[in-house]
Amino acid sequence: MYDLVLNNGWVVDGTGRPGFAGSVGILRGRVARIGKGEQALEGREVLELDGLAVCPGFVDVHSHSDLSILGNPRAESSLRQGITTEIAGNCGWSMAPLHKQLADVLATRLVRGLAGEEAAGALRFNWSSLAEFLEVVEALGTGNNLGTFVGQSMVRGYVMGGEDRVPSATELQKMRALVAAAMDDGAFGLSTGRSYFPGRLASTEEVIELARVVSQYQGLYTCHLKNQDSAIDASVEEVLEIGRWGRTPVQLAHHKVCSKPCWGRLGQTLERMDAARAQGVDVMADVYPFLFTQVSYLGSRLPEWVTKAGEAEGAALLQDAETRRKVKEEMLARVEPASGQPVSATLGRMAQSGVVYCRETKGYEGMDLGEVAQAKETDLADAVLLLLAENQLMVKTAGIMSAGDLRTILRHPLAMISTDAYALDRPLDEKAAVHPRHYGTYPLVLGQYVREEGLLTLEEAVRKMTSLPARRVGLLDRGVIAAGA
Ligand SMILES: [Zn+2]
Repeated sequence: MYDLVLNNGWVVDGTGRPGFAGSVGILRGRVARIGKGEQALEGREVLELDGLAVCPGFVDVHSHSDLSILGNPRAESSLRQGITTEIAGNCGWSMAPLHKQLADVLATRLVRGLAGEEAAGALRFNWSSLAEFLEVVEALGTGNNLGTFVGQSMVRGYVMGGEDRVPSATELQKMRALVAAAMDDGAFGLSTGRSYFPGRLASTEEVIELARVVSQYQGLYTCHLKNQDSAIDASVEEVLEIGRWGRTPVQLAHHKVCSKPCWGRLGQTLERMDAARAQGVDVMADVYPFLFTQVSYLGSRLPEWVTKAGEAEGAALLQDAETRRKVKEEMLARVEPASGQPVSATLGRMAQSGVVYCRETKGYEGMDLGEVAQAKETDLADAVLLLLAENQLMVKTAGIMSAGDLRTILRHPLAMISTDAYALDRPLDEKAAVHPRHYGTYPLVLGQYVREEGLLTLEEAVRKMTSLPARRVGLLDRGVIAAGA
């Protein structure tokens, strides 16, 4: 007698081997029996599947749920797409080691953006180590399993604040000790966000020093690249260097090439990955199956006196050529916090961001802003303002990727599926610049790329969602349907 029985399913066991008709019996939380054919098993709870697929829960190795889970512990957006285990702490950001000064920042962000006052109000950001953070999560109780990497931005920030210099020997030793402590507490490895502050201030050698610590624990080094467009080759090369000299497995996180002029180059980075493997670097990649990155409001580039006027009134202001000239001047002079440069100096980058949503002028969706300017036969800044005016300021932009590149990486045998998202518990609407990957990453792969296009077999897609990521982080009893798992 099993606790739970899944009768007459189509077992896709996560290893990639062909699916088969069968039943699965579960006892005390583990797979106890896999019966082939139509033989029914008996259990206290029985689900008759009529041929529906049975597969392991999905393992998301690139999650950002470690902050949002505190406000959304049921993790519904993850669970409802099949994710039972997620590994957070990516892109250099983790919840530990947590410096006192950062605790307030995180608390404010959670209250404002991710939860409600009520949910977050009860939380105290009073942990410091990873073990202490995991106790907080454990006490809260979560809908699925959460693991984490230790983020290099947190480690560097803890020891050196935001200082842009080489660490002293003592500081480096402190950083190494913090990484070791996090690994002792159960971190799955080290993550970096090489384009983000303050992680980007570290030299390659500094990261190698930390990777060496992780290597002693058989952990993984996962990297958000320095650059994901024109300088992607050098950025991939840095990760391979870190793998080579840090003697650790490395991961190209949410691997993609953004912006139209760079489309088609992902095949080369994957060839580079294969070549490095042949030379002994254990490198793999993960990918989310969408053609655009984090979404932002184009209207956030406007001066406040325009946005504050509201949608209709703001749009009316931009219809007037004289006002537009004034707005344009202010917009171009504004210094971007990310780059520290005025907008006028970064127009090349801005031209490459893609239009992913327009409330009215749908024809511009899919173009980049440079193409919008060409279509409108005007300069970039003017085109931005006209586009905002035509859509009552409701235009969303993002980095955009090519369908060809996405198919290339989805097919690669060492590329696994991940979300790059965080667990949420709120609906999608026009006002929420929320990426659909939070809700639909795994369904999109199974629906479009398996069922509709046949780009991947069901077995191969499930392998990329289960055993491949589970093995990558050393989880040996997950990601497969096998006795004892
Ligand atoms: Zn990232």
